[in-house]
Amino acid sequence: MKTMNDYCREKFGKKLYKLSLDGGFTCPNRDGTKGTGGCIFCSRSGSGDFAESGNDIKEQIERAKRRVEHKNKNGGYIAYFQSFTSTYAPIERLKKLFSEAINHPDIDVLSIGTRPDCLPEETIALLGELNKIKPVWVELGLQTSKKESIEYIRRCYENEVYEKAVKALHDKGIYVITHMIIGLPGESREDIKNTLFYILNNKSDGVKLQLLHILKDSDLYEEYKNGNIKTLTKEEYLDILKELLRLIPEEVAVHRLTGDGNKNTLVSPMWSANKKDVINSVNKLVQELGQEQKYIFREIKEDEIPIMFEMILSRMKWMDKVGIKQWNVTKYDEVYPIAYYEEKRQKGEVFVLEEKTNGDIVAAAVLKSEDDRWEGVPCYKRHSAFYLHNFAAKIGKKGVGAIFLSLAEEYAKEKGKEYFRLDSADDNKKLEKYYTEKGYIPVGECIDGLYTGILREKKLQEAQKSPSLTHGKKNMGKCP
Ligand code: SF4
Repeated sequence: MKTMNDYCREKFGKKLYKLSLDGGFTCPNRDGTKGTGGCIFCSRSGSGDFAESGNDIKEQIERAKRRVEHKNKNGGYIAYFQSFTSTYAPIERLKKLFSEAINHPDIDVLSIGTRPDCLPEETIALLGELNKIKPVWVELGLQTSKKESIEYIRRCYENEVYEKAVKALHDKGIYVITHMIIGLPGESREDIKNTLFYILNNKSDGVKLQLLHILKDSDLYEEYKNGNIKTLTKEEYLDILKELLRLIPEEVAVHRLTGDGNKNTLVSPMWSANKKDVINSVNKLVQELGQEQKYIFREIKEDEIPIMFEMILSRMKWMDKVGIKQWNVTKYDEVYPIAYYEEKRQKGEVFVLEEKTNGDIVAAAVLKSEDDRWEGVPCYKRHSAFYLHNFAAKIGKKGVGAIFLSLAEEYAKEKGKEYFRLDSADDNKKLEKYYTEKGYIPVGECIDGLYTGILREKKLQEAQKSPSLTHGKKNMGKCP
């Protein structure tokens, strides 16, 4: 994944800091041209809560610079016209404002946030001319490509307008960034992915992913107050984010991963107000994705079965060594001999994690589509799932188990499975904590010979219906 910082380092050889400016614009969705209430999620400041204000752009730039100066060692600056629709003004005014900003000696990039229906030919021509002085970025607020959502959020322009605008900007060599919102009411995970695919198909150079915020001074707040909508939990958001980031090709830069809501007007989700925690969680996720890219998740080959079996034997010895009583006391290698894995391989049920650099097999497991250990759980047959078994990771390869699990969940989603299910020994508290942190909830118990386990599951596809209306149930034994 390429972040905005990666892109800037590649292109400009340094980090660039955004100076949020306000050109004193309004918006056709507010002044009556297309509507009066604005987009349903938009705050009174026209999504420019953190922008400077005032008539003099040079002064705004200086003030904004002072805010970030302490962080900026050897970086540069982006003059970002953020508030409202920053091309919605007569051409002479735009020329004056943008020229002042782009010609400022400290500015490396001029970035303009706008609507695609506010880019007439003469404005595109102006941006093309400015782009010859310094790079111009245009940020388009698409938010969603789903027809019903477009109406719901009162965007007031059709997708075709966006398509034409991207093309016209590209014809002038202008870099395009598209904004999309994650968690719009009534949007499933598939809808969210479709918006991303739509943006990628239209060859947007960058994307900004924005978590849906409910702000007190937006119309969405009314819906929220009436209990009609919910926002995403942090776990839901990170899970969707992870799925989206996997789909974004390396050449498309991700300019934003959450977005900030103004703390003074933010109503929900409040977890997003803890900026430090959000940044840490997102950074962790990006790191995990970076790690994942070093491995391949695939079906096992015939000649790799002995490698997997050896991994299980090593794990049994390791359990002896560290004092864990599990496979080593339940005759695991006899209950599941090497022939068992070969039989499962022939059914296409054995998967491995291969290290890309050297082809090493570092983790393996059996993924079954049915599991009689689950017969006693009421919801067992009601949902499609993969059941994880015989899961082993190479000793000394820290973190590969988590990567295997994450990629196996992804594979399950691709195969249309609603749940990922597994079990862990009832006395293994460490494993219980591990799976709980990964979103697995206990739903029952199983006894298999000498083994007593807790059955756990994680819902994978809840966003297919509505990411904002569904939440995992926490009570053991309850069927979602
Ligand atoms: S989000 Fe943009 S287009 Fe929509 S009302 Fe706000 S300023 Fe206008």
